Amino acid sequence: MTATECSCACCGAENLTGFYRVDGVPVHSVLLMASREEALAYPQQDIELAICKSCGFIQNIHFDPSYHEYSERYEETQGYSAHFRSFLNEFVDELIERHQLHNRTVVEIGCGKGEFLSLLCRQGNNRGIGIDASYVPGRIAEHADLDLTFIQGFFEEHTDVIAVAEVIICRHTLEHIARPAEFMHKLREAIPEGSRPLIIFDLPDTTRVLEERAFWDVYYEHCAYFTPTSLAALFRQEGLAPQTLYRRYGEQMLVVEAYPDETGDKQTFSLERPVAELVTLSDEFSQSVERTVDGWSQRVQRANQAGQRVVLWGSGSKAVSFISALGNGCRIDAVVDINPHRQGSYMAGSGYEISAPASLAALQPDLVIVMNPVYEQEIAAELKQLGVKTELVSL
Ligand SMILES: [Zn+2]
Repeated sequence: MTATECSCACCGAENLTGFYRVDGVPVHSVLLMASREEALAYPQQDIELAICKSCGFIQNIHFDPSYHEYSERYEETQGYSAHFRSFLNEFVDELIERHQLHNRTVVEIGCGKGEFLSLLCRQGNNRGIGIDASYVPGRIAEHADLDLTFIQGFFEEHTDVIAVAEVIICRHTLEHIARPAEFMHKLREAIPEGSRPLIIFDLPDTTRVLEERAFWDVYYEHCAYFTPTSLAALFRQEGLAPQTLYRRYGEQMLVVEAYPDETGDKQTFSLERPVAELVTLSDEFSQSVERTVDGWSQRVQRANQAGQRVVLWGSGSKAVSFISALGNGCRIDAVVDINPHRQGSYMAGSGYEISAPASLAALQPDLVIVMNPVYEQEIAAELKQLGVKTELVSL
């Protein structure tokens, strides 16, 4: 299928232009693989990003949702990082403070292992209902005293819970949904007449990916790539009025806070750029991303040739994309991750084993590449503690 044969999954326009293609990427990048063989044999598919010249939404036109497996093997949490937990804590406190979120019923769609919802309930004395197909019962032991219910399943099968929601949260989820307009439509329809829940969505901002040629942030699990422009447009189209739109988490994430639109409120925000500017940005990405990939690949190869040991810190989606893009000419000596559930399993596609950071004391790497710059300081401190002297660079 080509871009001209597809229509936009947000606004429906037949006005798509393809601008970036990667062939043969693993269809899942954070699933736990029990053996190198399974990791190497894991299904691979192609990505072709296309931008809609009508609303600015970007989608992978080759995406096939039947490959998705959001099961208990889906291990996405970053909650083992102290830095990540403090980010999460701050965000929760901020939301509670700004919206006076106390004693409310909060529904979280795509709650993962329930970390965010537990915090929101604990810190604001709220009641929580979390929905996620990859929810693992019993993972968060410390919430036994909270008024929390988890539903292991997909939102589309449990839209009835929206009827009791005073707050609806949806974080790190919309980017995994192939038909975002249908999803938002179901959400809007599930809100009862006269009810006015606060709706908060939090998802990656693709503006930064385009500007920084961040090819490691393009992976198969993400089929929907939003910018402030396309996200706000989708909300308005589906009868939701954005009240505020902002970036957080080192500018990587985009948050929209909205209410059901009762007044035809069409407030726009400074982050929304004209669609034409985003089309230009996607063109520039297309023309220069290869240079960015080559730059990294030469850097790793130079280290390989000099006999240096190269380590990736982080084994999630960014690492899988990074390794896929660099290709077979680059040798990575170890991949480490602080999430104990990932250690001892293997990375889809490349088959690299994931180790604990403590293993670096024996390996004594020469170059450590950090998959997310927001963790660099935390990692530098941990390396120091392990007695590892190494060059440290971040994507
Ligand atoms: Zn569109």
